[in-house]
Amino acid sequence: MRDFSYLRADSVEAARNAAALPGAMLLAGGTTLVDLAKCGVAEPSAVIDISHIKGLDAIDVSAGRAVIGALAKMSHVADHTEIKGRFPAVSEALWQAASAQLRNTASIGGNLMQRTRCPYFRDPANFPACNKRAPGSGCSAIGGVTRGHAVLGTSEACIATYPGDLAIALVAFDAEVHLGERRLKVEDFFLAPGATAEREHDIRPGEVITAIEIPGSAAARRSTYLKVRDRQSYEFAAASAAVGLELEGDGRTIREIRVALGGVATKPWRARAVEDALKGKTFDEATVRKASELAMDGAVDHGANHYKIELAPRVVARAILKLGETA
Ligand code: SF4
Repeated sequence: MRDFSYLRADSVEAARNAAALPGAMLLAGGTTLVDLAKCGVAEPSAVIDISHIKGLDAIDVSAGRAVIGALAKMSHVADHTEIKGRFPAVSEALWQAASAQLRNTASIGGNLMQRTRCPYFRDPANFPACNKRAPGSGCSAIGGVTRGHAVLGTSEACIATYPGDLAIALVAFDAEVHLGERRLKVEDFFLAPGATAEREHDIRPGEVITAIEIPGSAAARRSTYLKVRDRQSYEFAAASAAVGLELEGDGRTIREIRVALGGVATKPWRARAVEDALKGKTFDEATVRKASELAMDGAVDHGANHYKIELAPRVVARAILKLGETA
């Protein structure tokens, strides 16, 4: 680890000014930055501690939306009564993320900034080839062990899976991230690798995440997050789905449906083909299962991760059918 300077920012403006310094990185809960620094991936020249900025941990659910401050802890958001009632998929995604200790420490803004768990990315000493860490160096995963890697949104440069849970639910419900003067759809905030795998987020020097905003809707109110993984706690998704459902007054026709996927793509992945295939249709198991197959449109496997192409549609279908049972 190289030497770095430590700066404490007590206001958003001070944080923005400091974040514009070359090589500066923000510190909130520290669960991402410290982790990456320990494995030699993050080498900041300056660490900007934003954890003392007052008011940035507020959670406001009103007027048909939720605004969650960037410094709110994952566990506080997961346990918030109004979030659980109006955005259950968001609460469930957070409860199934990380460990209790990490949820009590990690901030919502930091959660959005977490980076891939690709083991080659996190082991620079043994695997120098990684386009995400060292642009142009190649990809150690392609041709290596790929069981956890992505099948959607990949490129010749990188096949790393987006690891988070919260952002899957945020993408399903058209949430926005507040970056000061800019607001972006969370879906657009995350970048697929293309030829520039090193860029994972659309965030510019001097920008600071201050909040996320989630529009309320009937589909968000009847929503769930289903995560399938190798073990039931402290594990990343093999495949996951955030789903929201609104039925017509007849209780059988699908008026609105939202589907986003985790564990299978290089970024939080909205499955619009599934949504389009189901809107206006009568809710029944055969229709749901057939439409869920569309979640894997365009999927490309790299051998050991082929199982995800079969698993993900089942996860989507199970999540939708579970919501239908509660209708
Ligand atoms: Fe690096 Fe991406 Fe290849 Fe992993 S998959 S080694 S993160 S370039």
